[in-house]
Amino acid sequence: MRINVAQLLKAEIGARREYELDEVVDEGAQGASIPLRGRVELLRTDRGILVQAALATEVRGRCDRCLVPVRQPLDIELEEVFYPIIDILHGGKLPDPENKDAFRIDEYNQLDLGEATRQYLIASTPMRLLCRPGCVGLCADCGANLNQGPCACPPAPVEQRWAPLRQLLEQGTFRRKQRN
Ligand SMILES: [Zn+2]
Ligand SMILES: [Zn+2]
Repeated sequence: MRINVAQLLKAEIGARREYELDEVVDEGAQGASIPLRGRVELLRTDRGILVQAALATEVRGRCDRCLVPVRQPLDIELEEVFYPIIDILHGGKLPDPENKDAFRIDEYNQLDLGEATRQYLIASTPMRLLCRPGCVGLCADCGANLNQGPCACPPAPVEQRWAPLRQLLEQGTFRRKQRN
């Protein structure tokens, strides 16, 4: 995911380049390889290069409820300005951008999308992965996968301390119904 942007840095403001990305990268959880496909558009601005990318990838992990391996498609919309370190036309070092976390184009005019992509991936990954919306998970007692049918454990008794609350709720529902 390194692009040499020497020519684009020499071009006038507004110049564009487009790339098709189709790679497998080691950015996934547990060191898994994930695909990264899509269009990358580079635009020369006055201070650097604006990168806009629409990338399709996938998240790999385990279902939050039943722990089976899960692969889930994920789209990333990346938009970042990359600032060159070197003034390519006049030589010498350029001043650092105000934002200290800004992405840089290195002294060899290489624009590396790796770190930006990794950050966007982490930010877009859902907190909880599910194998399917209605996953019922594992039995807390025997660990059986309840998606494959009920286990042999007896049904859990309703906890006694919730009984008064349940009663109140039921009465409340009853009164509302009566008023209508
Ligand atoms: Zn599941
Ligand atoms: Zn069970």
